Amino acid sequence: MNTTRERAIAAITEQKLKNADRIPSVDEIVQRYGSDVFGIEVMRKLLPKNVFSKLLKTIKNGKPLDPTIADDVAEAMKSWAVGKGATHYTHWFQPLNGATAEKHDSFLEPGSDDKLILKFSGKNLIVGEPDASSFPSGGLRSTFEARGYTAWDPTSPAFIRRGLNGATLCIPTAFCSYTGEALDKKTPLLRSIMAMDRAVRRLMKAFHAEQSGAHVSISLGAEQEYFLVDRHFYSLRPDLVQTGRTLFGAPPPKHQQLEDHYFGVIKPRILAFMTEVEQELWRLGIPAKTRHNEVAPAQFEVAPIFEELNLAVDHNMLVMDVLRQVAERHGLVCLLHEKPFAGVNGSGKHNNWSITYGGRNLLNPGSDPRQNAIFLTILIAIIRAVDQHADLLRASVATAGNDHRLGANEAPPAIMSVFLGEQLTDIMDQIESGKVKRARRGGVLKVGVETIPTLPRDATDRNRTSPFAFTGNKFEFRAPGSSQSCAGINVMLNAIVAESLETLASRIEDFDSAKDFNTQLQATLQRILKKHKKVIFNGNGYDEAWIHEAHRRGLPDLRTTPEALKRLIVPENIGLLEKTGVLSRAEIISRHEIFMAEYQRKIRIEGELSLLIARTVVEPAVTEQFGALAAIRTSLSPGKTGGRAVEAKFRRIGALLDDLSMKCDDLEQILKKDDAEKTVDAMTSLRRTVDLLEGVVADDKWPLPKYREMLFIY
Ligand code: ADP
Ligand code: MG
Repeated sequence: MNTTRERAIAAITEQKLKNADRIPSVDEIVQRYGSDVFGIEVMRKLLPKNVFSKLLKTIKNGKPLDPTIADDVAEAMKSWAVGKGATHYTHWFQPLNGATAEKHDSFLEPGSDDKLILKFSGKNLIVGEPDASSFPSGGLRSTFEARGYTAWDPTSPAFIRRGLNGATLCIPTAFCSYTGEALDKKTPLLRSIMAMDRAVRRLMKAFHAEQSGAHVSISLGAEQEYFLVDRHFYSLRPDLVQTGRTLFGAPPPKHQQLEDHYFGVIKPRILAFMTEVEQELWRLGIPAKTRHNEVAPAQFEVAPIFEELNLAVDHNMLVMDVLRQVAERHGLVCLLHEKPFAGVNGSGKHNNWSITYGGRNLLNPGSDPRQNAIFLTILIAIIRAVDQHADLLRASVATAGNDHRLGANEAPPAIMSVFLGEQLTDIMDQIESGKVKRARRGGVLKVGVETIPTLPRDATDRNRTSPFAFTGNKFEFRAPGSSQSCAGINVMLNAIVAESLETLASRIEDFDSAKDFNTQLQATLQRILKKHKKVIFNGNGYDEAWIHEAHRRGLPDLRTTPEALKRLIVPENIGLLEKTGVLSRAEIISRHEIFMAEYQRKIRIEGELSLLIARTVVEPAVTEQFGALAAIRTSLSPGKTGGRAVEAKFRRIGALLDDLSMKCDDLEQILKKDDAEKTVDAMTSLRRTVDLLEGVVADDKWPLPKYREMLFIY
């Protein structure tokens, strides 16, 4: 016996872990932090004083870039990058396919005397013109005007990406059509940050709490989950190679039920990988902080310290990129798909989000009554936003991969609800009902007059089942999929919250100045809570009973991607996105079209591949075993010793083989109709048969690496 699977196992188990040639000292590691980033300190050193101060204004306050300084900045950036070994530069952007895109140009240009010189001008820095006709545009860019342009986003610093044999300067950019429509994920993100900026300022003004020069900042801490499998297994699984997930595979007897992987001891090979990932992230100025084993076997997580949203989104794209590349160097493959393995947990990306004004986190209750009133107002505005626009939040996480998590018996449910924890819920109850539920000294909490007792960081486990949980001083949106860019998610979150903050600000602006401010505020908050408290849920989100309860409350339950994406283009949602200036009608319609097409294509690829694997990999193996059994059977009469067993096995495999062939034919027919929903059902049904066959076909005849191997041998 020497099957490809056994050879893969032998190759994995025989490999020896090697120490790095030289382990850098902690000092060196600290010294290197951010050394591949063209950050503020580097600019201060390398740029003429006046150029630096102009650029700093653009970076810190979002002032438009003064084009007269572009050449100086470009020159400094080039010499810095060349000093780091970069021969090329690229505008680094995030088209609507959800990945990052780059087209490299070398710095080389012909000089005099047949010599080449290194050149990089202000124009090269500020705009690029990639022929971008092959990026999804959803009808925004007609093909005769195929060009889009990329524009430097100075609020996210340039950085160096290193390959095996050289380095490239990457310049974060936005990507637009010539008529100014956003063809990427960054442009609307920057617009949504501006919408939040306006809304927060307006609210602070309504509270007479504005501070001159105070900066509004939205923060994001993105926890990233991923799986690692050995490259040997990966390359034997056409489904992993082509779709990022296993289309077949029976869960092994032991998977995650002993709960022995979560926070378990990290295996040396994985730790070596993680260490290298972190060192690379730190060089890129990405503050990777936490690393651990996740719930499923072979599943892990990395989390950085939170940063300003636009930067954190770019950084998360880089985190995914670094994970994939470092895995390759370690003979591993990093799977970022939301559900690489059926029957064990999928991977998400927890989106920790907060709002800061003048350096103060507004999601912190604060120490005086007015700060408390602002905190409660913002909290209630967010509750209102999630209740009113749960569909937009759901749509922001709708992808083919994420459908295997949301609404599919796994964390978190497809129903959007807000977790507040016991103490805050109690306060909300008091405001809403005007009554005290439990004995409380001094009666009902008076908004703007009293302070809230310090909120403990909710230590219970229940919030883990909530898609949108308040966790002490931030909201944690847990529905995003592990492979998603954080951009689209936060565009929606910012848009719906900005709209809600503006609405509350306008109500407050309308208060009667002859009457008491706090009394009017309390009444306003009470009205809003009455209407929107139905979205608050502190119980177990996985419980079947919650689904019934949520339906009774009238909360939307959008279980599939097409259902959720449809909500992008209903008139009130288009209205909201237009009103907040985040996306134009044409941009929303094009996005809807692109995301739907992407979903359908992905399902189609999975369907075709399922059929191909079932017919050309699984069926021949089963037929071979069936043939062998048939041969033994003819030489044995059922009455003879062993006859009963052979007969039973022969019948079992024969029946499943027939079933397999029938289900393949079904899937083939459905693929002709191009119906995504039916394709998913037919694939699921075919998978059931294949997974049953895995349990009866002789182990050495089974061609695909099994779950017990991929998830446990590495
Ligand atoms: P966990 O959710 O696993 O319990 P933490 O709550 O400590 O872990 O942190 C998760 C993520 O939230 C980290 O990336 C952390 O930096 C981020 N985070 C912490 N505070 C904030 C905040 N005020 N705003 C945004 N993100 C935050
Ligand atoms: Mg978390």
